[in-house]
Amino acid sequence: MAALDLKARARQAFSLFTLSLHPRRCDSSECTGNHPRWKRTTSNTGRVRLHGSSFCLIECFEREIRRTLEQTQHADSFWPTKPRRIPLGLIMLSRGELSNHQLQRALEAQACAGRGRIGEWVRNLGFAEEAQIAAALAKQWACPLMRTLPARPANDSVPLQLLQSFRMVPVHFSKVNRILHVAFAGDIEYRVLFSIERMLACKTEPCLTTKAQIEAALARVQARNPSEEKLFENCDTEEMVRILSNYSARLCAAEVRTAHCGEFFWARILSGANSIDLLFSRRRILPTSAGYTAGDWSFPSDQPRR
Ligand SMILES: [Zn+2]
Repeated sequence: MAALDLKARARQAFSLFTLSLHPRRCDSSECTGNHPRWKRTTSNTGRVRLHGSSFCLIECFEREIRRTLEQTQHADSFWPTKPRRIPLGLIMLSRGELSNHQLQRALEAQACAGRGRIGEWVRNLGFAEEAQIAAALAKQWACPLMRTLPARPANDSVPLQLLQSFRMVPVHFSKVNRILHVAFAGDIEYRVLFSIERMLACKTEPCLTTKAQIEAALARVQARNPSEEKLFENCDTEEMVRILSNYSARLCAAEVRTAHCGEFFWARILSGANSIDLLFSRRRILPTSAGYTAGDWSFPSDQPRR
């Protein structure tokens, strides 16, 4: 009798637990609630959380994802233009690291070539070391300078494709304050930091380092290749909806998070302790070692990392 009682209690506790993960109510105002039963078998309860609300898999979820994609198509236009900063050359001049003549020569070389950043030309002409340029950049962006990056990245949660595309590396994670410190070697991509905050539910703080440090750290991250991520290129909105819906259903997703990240649309599918990152690019990324094209949208045989 006691054993039966314990089993009943365990069953009740489990149902409460799964209910909290998969709420029964759909938050879509357009939900008909008449989805065919066969579609509900793709998940425990047929619900997935998206942007803090709960939706039926598949119809209501697909509708919300499609809406999100349509809204984020022009997301870059919502970002303000880069704030004006003191020119790097002037900062180096004021620090005594560059003479008037050297700055003039670097500016002329840049204008003549019609490309490159002034810091690159200063270095190419041998007027300053990379560490001096990084220090001036740190002053320009009012960020801390990190001369040497740690041997291991602070966090495996940012997809490698994004780290490589934006030349950034997570260097320290403060568990107490949930702050992720991210190193850059040039421009700080605040829109990407915003997306990371949204996807990882943390705060971010940028810092600056040299290009050599970033390249070495990215090589170490790539060698470890810890993250479970898939890259899809040249997808249109309907293909992206189908891929996201397919993965979410097959993985019995409890939650899907999304963020616009430069030219990428980043989706993280969470299922229990597992997660997988799907990245969609508007163009073809080379090399395509981890890439899937739009035609490969069906669920691959490999499973998310546990
Ligand atoms: Zn619904």
